[in-house]
Amino acid sequence: MSALTSADLIKMFRALSERIEAEKGFLCELDGHIGDADHGIAMAQGFGAVARALDALDPAAISPTDVFNTAAKSFLNAVGASSGPLYATAFMRAGAAFKGKDAIAADEAPAIIEAMARGIQDRGKAEPGDKTMIDAWQPAAVAAAAGREAGKPAAEVFAAARKAAEEGAAATAGMVASKGRSSRLGERSLGHVDPGAASAAIVVAVMAESLAG
Ligand code: ADP
Ligand code: MG
Ligand code: MG
Repeated sequence: MSALTSADLIKMFRALSERIEAEKGFLCELDGHIGDADHGIAMAQGFGAVARALDALDPAAISPTDVFNTAAKSFLNAVGASSGPLYATAFMRAGAAFKGKDAIAADEAPAIIEAMARGIQDRGKAEPGDKTMIDAWQPAAVAAAAGREAGKPAAEVFAAARKAAEEGAAATAGMVASKGRSSRLGERSLGHVDPGAASAAIVVAVMAESLAG
């Protein structure tokens, strides 16, 4: 795989917008069990705004950092729910990780997942086990870092991150929420997958398909 350009990242955001739009109903349904049923709408509005903002730009004239910064700004402006600032910070951190570069080397690309996870954790202060999107992002980041540091091919590293995010999201069904809106439910949140963790697994999966394919 060759280095990722701004055009590749814009394509990734377009794929994310399409996929999240398709999963909107499912994500709202999950949020309906333990939250306020708007998570799919929030995520679809956010990624829709990102895709529109990026469509208006010339990929040849902007850096990967500009792409992520544009994504951060549009997502934040479009989303009123808690996921807004969390994903905005994630995109800002991904942008900062590649500052000054014209393209992202293939074997460095999984670091996007690591930077996003750190941003979400710094912003939301959730810990693994709190039943949030961190329960998908954190294991994905650990898998990404381990594979990248071992020098594995990007496709393999992305596949491992995707699997870790999916397993992490599934595991939230066995957790009691202690952060965010669903923490008000206490034990009643048990048995339901966290909507933010479910959407995180989708985001990581689409990133893996788009960036490693
Ligand atoms: P809201 O709860 O404001 O309606 P959303 O429905 O868009 O926001 O997002 C809910 C998701 O946000 C939760 O399922 C959870 O994964 C995530 N979340 C909430 N608070 C935090 C936090 N402090 N850190 C990480 N993720 C969080
Ligand atoms: Mg909600
Ligand atoms: Mg809400």
